[in-house]
Order: sequence, then structure tokens, then C-alpha cells
Amino acid sequence: MIAKRYEPFWKTTPLEKMSASEWESICDGCGKCCLQKLQDDETEEVFYTTLACHQLDINACQCKVYETRQKKVASCITLTLDQLEEFHWLPDTCGYRVLHETGDLPEWHPLKVGSQKEMKRQGLTVEHYAVNENSVEEDDWETHIIKWVHGMPEPYSID
Ligand code: SF4
Ligand code: SF4
Repeated sequence: MIAKRYEPFWKTTPLEKMSASEWESICDGCGKCCLQKLQDDETEEVFYTTLACHQLDINACQCKVYETRQKKVASCITLTLDQLEEFHWLPDTCGYRVLHETGDLPEWHPLKVGSQKEMKRQGLTVEHYAVNENSVEEDDWETHIIKWVHGMPEPYSID
């Protein structure tokens, strides 16, 4: 008898057909989408900063008000299926983006490893560099712009 090869749900179920819990589990909990972003008025290009939303528990990389986040923070974005084509603005390591673009999750993803241990070991969560947005005057946010290089932040200037 030939054993059936096990394929995990994220390889067999398209994002748009996932259950709510499957969809949620694709988020690796990196916290990167909770970093403030600035947009160029002319080009509409989006730039990430190292400034975390004030509702993010930076050490745990978790939202402190997850259930009511959109009431508490008007600019909070909830990822939904109708945004699939817009996932390109997400960080290049984001589970949704990687799965959408490659059909698989990265080897360090909690669904493959069983925990965040490996992604934390690789520095792929924001607790190593994020600072609370309220600690920096908004006029100075531009000086905190970064670009993502393999999931790590590098200082970047738009001048
Ligand atoms: S960037 Fe993607 S994987 Fe990371 S916390 Fe946001 S939704 Fe989850
Ligand atoms: S309200 Fe919560 S989920 Fe939304 S950006 Fe802030 S920390 Fe992230």
C-alpha cells in the first residue's frame, strides 16, 4: 500500500477558501504591519518606519486591544481577502504575502516550526527594534523610515 503524502492546509486550501482560524494562523505574529507607515503624496509609495502603534505590546508583538482595535485606532488595517491583490505593501516576510506569492510558507513560520522560536532567533519580529510611536514627535517620523531587507529593517532616507 502506498502511504498518502500529507499536505498541510495552506498548500491545499487557497487563502480565499480558508476558515477563519486557518486564515488567522497564517499571521506569523511578527508585528511588522503594526509599524507606522508614511506615504509619498506624489508617488503613493509606502514607507515603513520603526515606530510601533501605541497599542502594540512590543515585547510580545501583540496588539493590546485586538478585539476592539479598529474602534481604538482608526488607522488600524484588518487584512481581508478582498485585499489579496494589494498584499505587496506588506513586509516581504509577512505570511499572507509569502503564501500568496509563492504558494508556501517560509521554513521559519510558526505553522512549520510549531512556535515563534525560529523566527525570533532570526530576528524577524519587531521587538528588537520597534519603538512606541508616542516617543517620537510626528515631524520627526521621517527619520525613522526603513526599508526591508530579507525581513530586517535597514535605515532609509527618502531624500
Ligand atoms: S505583517 Fe503579516 S504576518 Fe506580520 S503581524 Fe502583520 S499580518 Fe501578521
Ligand atoms: S491597533 Fe493593534 S492591530 Fe491595529 S495597528 Fe495598533 S497594535 Fe496593530
